Amino acid sequence: MTRIQAKNPIVEMDGDEMTRILWTMVKDQLVHPFVDVKLEYYDLGLPERDRTDDAVTVAAAEAIKRHRVGVKCATITPNDDRVKEYSLKKAWPSPNGTLRAMLDGTVFRKPIVVRNVPPMVRSWQKPITIGRHAYGDMYKSAEMRLRTPGKVELVFTPADGSEPQRTTVFEFKTPGVVRGVHNLDDSIRSFARACITYAVSERMNLWFSGKDTISKTYHGAFRGIFAQEVEARKAEMAAAGIVYEYLLIDDAVARAVRSQGGFLWACMNYDGDVMSDMVASGFGSLGLMTSVLVSPDGNFEYEAAHGTVTRHYYAHQRGESTSTNSTATIFAWTGALAKRGELDGTPELTRFAQLVEQSVIETIESGVMTKDLALIADPRPATHADSQGFIAAVAARLKSRVEAGALVG
Ligand code: NAP
Ligand code: MG
Repeated sequence: MTRIQAKNPIVEMDGDEMTRILWTMVKDQLVHPFVDVKLEYYDLGLPERDRTDDAVTVAAAEAIKRHRVGVKCATITPNDDRVKEYSLKKAWPSPNGTLRAMLDGTVFRKPIVVRNVPPMVRSWQKPITIGRHAYGDMYKSAEMRLRTPGKVELVFTPADGSEPQRTTVFEFKTPGVVRGVHNLDDSIRSFARACITYAVSERMNLWFSGKDTISKTYHGAFRGIFAQEVEARKAEMAAAGIVYEYLLIDDAVARAVRSQGGFLWACMNYDGDVMSDMVASGFGSLGLMTSVLVSPDGNFEYEAAHGTVTRHYYAHQRGESTSTNSTATIFAWTGALAKRGELDGTPELTRFAQLVEQSVIETIESGVMTKDLALIADPRPATHADSQGFIAAVAARLKSRVEAGALVG
């Protein structure tokens, strides 16, 4: 069998625990036998991050900026327990946080839809992707608990020494609470750009929601910046056959629940926090949730939305059989391969990635699935596959499809 040639490299970031075990199996059984791609390898596993004082994470982010496409395994974000468990020099920061900051990126979470794992919401037939603005608002705020009467003001003191600006928040007669929040035009603009880039790339309509009827200045700024960015790229969006809509958040929620899905919903920070969990549980399982970090200038980093599945890893280490779902990890690889093919003008690579995805979906729809899905599938299968067995079943199906000429023509 001749392997498909990729023109340019993909940045590969290895990770930790159970997902590190799945990682090698997926790569060896579903990628290498079929595709000749140069993988620029960075080991983001915790021991290597510790050994390099986390320089390996920074190097990986730089590599993504060079090659534009990366695929990442789940990694441990160390806390005090992990510092002891791995005898770390210190609690290194979250690799995802580092990558997001260095790439100035937005994270999009998209569920994988399979027919026999029905969503909780009956009308959802296509994935709903959530793009969450990951800067500011409630997550970077100043708060006070007020116990005595008094006046709260917002005061802006210009750095150039000119006259301060002030406005009254509230005159308290009785105890209460107050919070000050902020955001930045640059951050909102980057977010809008990343959302448009992703919507165009996935050919999905784009929603942005806020509450500018109430928050005319704050939410109004978000709405205004989105409108400017959409205007600047309307030709690109028209060519992709997609439209943009601004919706009030309550209207967006009502419409999302009644919709068939198939759109990108750009959310403000808090809304995205809430809606991404609502959509994730509405679609079924963490093992079916993919995630991609998109930078405003068009770099793409793909991964599964779940973590390193620690509990399963400890069982694996004890020599027990595991049933960990590799679907989202496989889709991280196919996302990266498809994007590589698209950017390089090698449609055969993109077609291959789609064939892998089809093979995964058909495997699950044929009743072969891991335990997390077996518990919620309809009909429920009599047995479930173990971690290895699921990947082997996908590999066998993929191989027979390729041998039957699925990639020819
Ligand atoms: P997790 O790894 O996502 O796992 C939580 C639970 O969800 C698992 O114990 C398992 O439930 C279920 N689950 C998640 N993914 C699954 C899969 N693919 N197949 C089957 N079941 C799956 O979250 P966590 O336990 O909170 O975090 C573990 C480590 O991952 C932490 O060190 C954290 O820092 C890291 N983490 C990394 C990322 C990332 O790199 N993007 C994201 C989140 C967390 P059962 O045990 O009930 O089977
Ligand atoms: Mg949340």
